[in-house]
Amino acid sequence: MKDLRLAGLNSERSTIEVNGVTIGGKEIILIGGPCAVESSIQMSQAAETVKRAGGKILRGGVFKPRTSPYSFQGLGQEGLNYLVQAAKEQGLLCVTEVTDAPSLDLVVDKVDIIQIGARNMQNFELLKLAGKINKPIILKRGLSATIEEWLLAAEYILAAGNPHVILCERGIRTFEPSTRNTLDLSAVVVAKELSHLPVIVDPSHAAGRRDLISSLSKAALAAGADGLLIEMHPNPIEAVSDGPQSLYPEEFVQLARELGVVAESVKRVFLGGEGNLESLRTSINDIDQSIIELLAARMQLVNKLSSQKRLDRVKDASREKEIIQRLVNLATDLQLPSELVKRIYSLIFEFGVQSQIKSRLAQEKKLDLSFYPTGSK
Ligand code: PEP
Ligand code: MN
Repeated sequence: MKDLRLAGLNSERSTIEVNGVTIGGKEIILIGGPCAVESSIQMSQAAETVKRAGGKILRGGVFKPRTSPYSFQGLGQEGLNYLVQAAKEQGLLCVTEVTDAPSLDLVVDKVDIIQIGARNMQNFELLKLAGKINKPIILKRGLSATIEEWLLAAEYILAAGNPHVILCERGIRTFEPSTRNTLDLSAVVVAKELSHLPVIVDPSHAAGRRDLISSLSKAALAAGADGLLIEMHPNPIEAVSDGPQSLYPEEFVQLARELGVVAESVKRVFLGGEGNLESLRTSINDIDQSIIELLAARMQLVNKLSSQKRLDRVKDASREKEIIQRLVNLATDLQLPSELVKRIYSLIFEFGVQSQIKSRLAQEKKLDLSFYPTGSK
């Protein structure tokens, strides 16, 4: 890897604090909104959905670098006002893309985060300008950029004086035509191995189709992404750009509900939504189901242990004490009462011991019976 003097991995991962939101910490950050800002009502509805899902940041393009000059180019200043206003109404942060010096000038004091899109990843003059401002930059990976080129593009921003860069994997061009691009999840892992910068994933531009967004988002979290940037539109059928890859509001909220358990499985946190009563209950039901499934898996492992222990050694008080101590420390970090952990685990241990004794006795009975092959008197 070339000279990554500033983006290269040093001892600590960077976290980026922006107006009360931390990117790159333990919490997964969800960014959502339409590809392009189209109207005030569209942005208010999108912001309401992002908030309901537990998202922290509203997106919406007002300067659209479109592949065709005849496609919608964005509402510019007017769109910016809709984006900023809608985010403010819901207490969200906002992000929009800039394409050149004038658009950067126009948005820099209005939005919380600035995006440099895939098509501008190697617009070195723009990168240098982004390095001179005091706002975080989401730097998308170029359509055909190697990881090295992407990290060197980030290095341009850092070298010009702005340390707040968030890398965004958004799919690369491959020979595969069934998706718009190919989401390169190994790039998430590699980028985090080579640099200290937070890495987020945009599954929308990678897939180009909404049916893949849920699976790709979960896979991205499993791969270590610090956040997701997902296109969602109040009415995707009518969207002026990227409708086919935009989630419907309810799909977005549902996906957010499902992200918590995935985040937890990789020792991260995602707090899905203030939500209404119904969506909170659905999330609680999902968590309860996971708790029972995990308890069943634990019990199976415990039973496997029984064949390797003497019957009088099934209960191991010092191991129980060690487990409780570790979990009480964890609970304290997570602001859970330690008494809760102690009580739950005393029951888990009690039932574990009983179950081990039962399965051990059953095994011994089986062995005994094998002395008397079936059919003999
Ligand atoms: C976008 O986020 O709307 C966008 C144009 O993305 P990309 O630069 O990744 O194509
Ligand atoms: Mn788009």
